[in-house]
Amino acid sequence: MSAPEQYAGGPIAALRRIAFLLERGREDSYKVKAFRSAASTLLPMPSDEVAALVAAGTLTKLPGIGASSAKVIEAAVRGEMPERLADLEARHGGPLVAGGEALMTQIRGDLHSHSDWSDGGSPIEEMAITAMELGREYQVLTDHSPRLRVANGLSAERLARQLDVVDAVNAHLAGTFTLLKGIEVDILDDGRLDQTDEMLARLDVRVASVHSKLAMDRDAMTRRMVNAVRNPFTNVLGHCTGRLVTGNRGTRPQSTFDARVVFEACAEEGVAVEINARPERRDPPTKLLELARDIGCVFSIDSDAHAPGQLDFLAYGAERAEAAGIDPDRIVTTWPVDRLLEWATPRFRL
Ligand SMILES: [Zn+2]
Ligand SMILES: [Zn+2]
Repeated sequence: MSAPEQYAGGPIAALRRIAFLLERGREDSYKVKAFRSAASTLLPMPSDEVAALVAAGTLTKLPGIGASSAKVIEAAVRGEMPERLADLEARHGGPLVAGGEALMTQIRGDLHSHSDWSDGGSPIEEMAITAMELGREYQVLTDHSPRLRVANGLSAERLARQLDVVDAVNAHLAGTFTLLKGIEVDILDDGRLDQTDEMLARLDVRVASVHSKLAMDRDAMTRRMVNAVRNPFTNVLGHCTGRLVTGNRGTRPQSTFDARVVFEACAEEGVAVEINARPERRDPPTKLLELARDIGCVFSIDSDAHAPGQLDFLAYGAERAEAAGIDPDRIVTTWPVDRLLEWATPRFRL
């Protein structure tokens, strides 16, 4: 047998990388959980203590460490590539999609992501650190708004607490990366936004999305979306058709609205049409993407990540934007953070 490949990353990096690759490859989240909880168990422990447990073969006595995590830790502590990690690198470590590579090199940030404060699977700091590791300059944290109860949407009070946490996270990061304050705010049935103006004003970026009554009739949906786009706080129109094309939530047809009217409002207001990169959304559909392009809209390529590994989904959106021939300068997520924040300032007219 040949000698095992060397691995110098240590056990915590190995466990985090395995979780990341499982998420990136869209594998079941219960598998991911085991590795993430093993990593958090090890995090506060001195490394000689971990090594002693490995030597004694008693790792699984620790909370949150099962047999498969223990195998990974044992290999990493010995300085050997864990088998599970090598296998996942081979299966899920390569490019997600062919195309969009040139555009991806120009992408600086992502305006749409969730933490475990709403329906995401990981803490804010894990999302931020992963975004930083992916070379992003900024990541907007956009947990859901109160009406989305199934997703544990944030009340004004919880959102206010979250903003303090974001400040604390940024205070501990080097100045090369910024976690920005945001929201994915529900567009109510009449087009109003599901959060107080006071809280919306405290945020850096606001993504407005329809999550309910997706089958509303065409005229009512058009009015609803235009009202939301005209709201001075709205910066991004999230996953505009609401369609689902694949995945474990099944499929769902796109909602109907006068896309020309909605996109013209976006172009006038400078609201970005989101290119939602999630493989199960691929929203907007290509015809609408091209319509928005021809109308002169700006775009935001967003991961809508609900787990750290999904932050890499931007590649899917970049492939679509490049295929549609969209000029990178019309993609706000290629902009430096200062330009982005200036663009995202609420549009109150005096
Ligand atoms: Zn959404
Ligand atoms: Zn979302």
